[in-house]
Amino acid sequence: MGWGGSFGGGFVGAHAAGGQAGLPFGGIPDELMDEATKLLATEPVRPKSHVHFTQRPREKERERLTLAKLLLVYPKWLAAGSALVIIISLTLQAGPLLTEYAIRHGMESHKSLAVIVVCALLYLGLALVSVYFQREQVEVTGKLSSRVMHDLRIRVFTQFQRLSLDFFTEEKAGVLMSRMTSDVENLQQLIQDGISQFALQGLTMIVITIILFLTNVELAAWTVLVVVPLLIAFSIWYHHASEKGYLLARDRIALVLADLSESLYGIRVVTAHNRQRRNIRNHRHVVGAYRDANVYTGRVNAIYGPSTLMIGILGQAMLLGIGGHMVLHHELNVAQLIVFFLYLNRFFGPIQLLVQQYTTLQQGRSSIIRLRELLEITPTVDELPEAMVLPTIEGRITFENVGFGYRADEPVLHDVNLEISPGESVAFVGPTGAGKSTMAKLANRFYDPTSGRVLVDGVDVKTVTLHSLRTQLGVVPQEPFLFAGSIRTNLSFGRPEASDDEIETAVDVVGLRELVNHLPGGLDTPVHERGQTLSAGERQQLALARAFLARPRVLILDEATSSLDLRSETVIERALDRLLEGRSAILIAHRLTTAQRADRIVVIDDGGIVEMGTPEELLALGGAYAVMYEAWLASGGRDASRVTP
Ligand code: ADP
Repeated sequence: MGWGGSFGGGFVGAHAAGGQAGLPFGGIPDELMDEATKLLATEPVRPKSHVHFTQRPREKERERLTLAKLLLVYPKWLAAGSALVIIISLTLQAGPLLTEYAIRHGMESHKSLAVIVVCALLYLGLALVSVYFQREQVEVTGKLSSRVMHDLRIRVFTQFQRLSLDFFTEEKAGVLMSRMTSDVENLQQLIQDGISQFALQGLTMIVITIILFLTNVELAAWTVLVVVPLLIAFSIWYHHASEKGYLLARDRIALVLADLSESLYGIRVVTAHNRQRRNIRNHRHVVGAYRDANVYTGRVNAIYGPSTLMIGILGQAMLLGIGGHMVLHHELNVAQLIVFFLYLNRFFGPIQLLVQQYTTLQQGRSSIIRLRELLEITPTVDELPEAMVLPTIEGRITFENVGFGYRADEPVLHDVNLEISPGESVAFVGPTGAGKSTMAKLANRFYDPTSGRVLVDGVDVKTVTLHSLRTQLGVVPQEPFLFAGSIRTNLSFGRPEASDDEIETAVDVVGLRELVNHLPGGLDTPVHERGQTLSAGERQQLALARAFLARPRVLILDEATSSLDLRSETVIERALDRLLEGRSAILIAHRLTTAQRADRIVVIDDGGIVEMGTPEELLALGGAYAVMYEAWLASGGRDASRVTP
């Protein structure tokens, strides 16, 4: 079924349940529903998109990122764009030549109105042709850049999907977002305007230089050797000065925004401590610095524009003197002098435009470099080229002399040995920071151990494909993440092909039936803002149902620390019992009631296993767990990881 179809299903479902009057989501009114049904009928059924994703990038995806390679994916658009640029730069320059022809053959020698009219019409015709081609060129480069950007965005996103957890812990989310926003946009700007303008203006300058030399070598030489170097030198100064202004303004506006956001977020503290006056003074200071940067940029622009105009005029005056002298000595005719001046006027514009485009080029170049670096990162947890698909497992998990540290110089786990039998549930208990979650993260290869091995059914997890491993090892994180979409799509997240019956069963198993029945849209009710309208307990139940639907062979559950009320606790414990039936499980237990129900308890402290046994054995032993249990009972059952053993 296409997208249109599935959307229709959800929509009608929401409507049907919307009949319950008085609820916040009253559903869609009947009069609107007719229109909506009509609209849905005309909605095209889009074919299912086939997405290719493998942990190891294919040959093509491993190619070094360069602008040329990005563009060459669309050779037709690229060729069309280049051809149009050439045509435009030629047609645009025909005008003055026609003027010269009209002066010499229509005014000076033959005095023929017909020649003048034909030249004028040709002039107009060519100008119209050039306008048409310019429109085409903008459209072609627009299409080319949108396609290239589309490909690039998907390529970068795919790379994000491949990278390992450590990458996302090290890099700030804001910085990663800027790869997708400002860097990709810089490139878009470069492809859309930068390259074509550079080519167009560059080509125009070459064409005009040739015409100038063909018209008169001496005058052309004066222009190229005296006026152009002056203009270029001045433009280079402008480029540096305006870049400095741009960077200054960029840094200072960041300070303004930082100050603004701090004042807004902290408005309660500001008001409570009577800081308003002082805050205004401070803000005036940063805004003033930003103003100074803008004033500087304005001054640089004010110098550059009129000064280049002045250089142009001085050059023209000089050339008029030399050219006039040549006319008087019959080395040049008047028509040639006029045509020379007409081209000269068109010669200075491209120099200024090229200087302005230079910034776009530089920004595009550094963006390409940053994106290339990102695409060339190899995930720390990667698949071997010969990785095999892990067959359906029984669920035996073995930690064999495992050592691990997030940073080389800070070991977190040392020499851990543990075997979890198929179907066995093992609770990890111990103080915060002991290494419980880290052990769990090693089991499904969020990280790789620095020494020793982790085995699943006797197979080293490093030798199997990540997909086949993670399908069989389900993880329920401490703070379940809910995605934009409905309750249904969130439940079937790990197995989108789950049938409606299976989803309904999962809802019953985790005890969500009452909530779902109560919601206006049932399972199709949208989840707001990562589930903020649901209670912590309900979010946990949703996460359990998600794991239940995904049917993993082994379950790794990081128990929620947030204190659940007694009712939610009982519901979740019942759900857990169903979920664990016939499965091996690692439970990072914060409540010792959960630990007590496990087949075995492993006490972890300071990166190693200090005690291990059934709950009864450990209590009888009177060791760390027994002390912890006593303290926990005395504290009234709060988070066990905060109780010192
Ligand atoms: P527990 O689950 O027992 O509370 P963890 O396994 O989460 O403990 O953490 C063990 C140690 O590793 C702690 O000292 C913690 O600060 C550190 N740690 C956890 N995650 C990271 C990380 N991503 N980068 C660096 N250090 C980490």
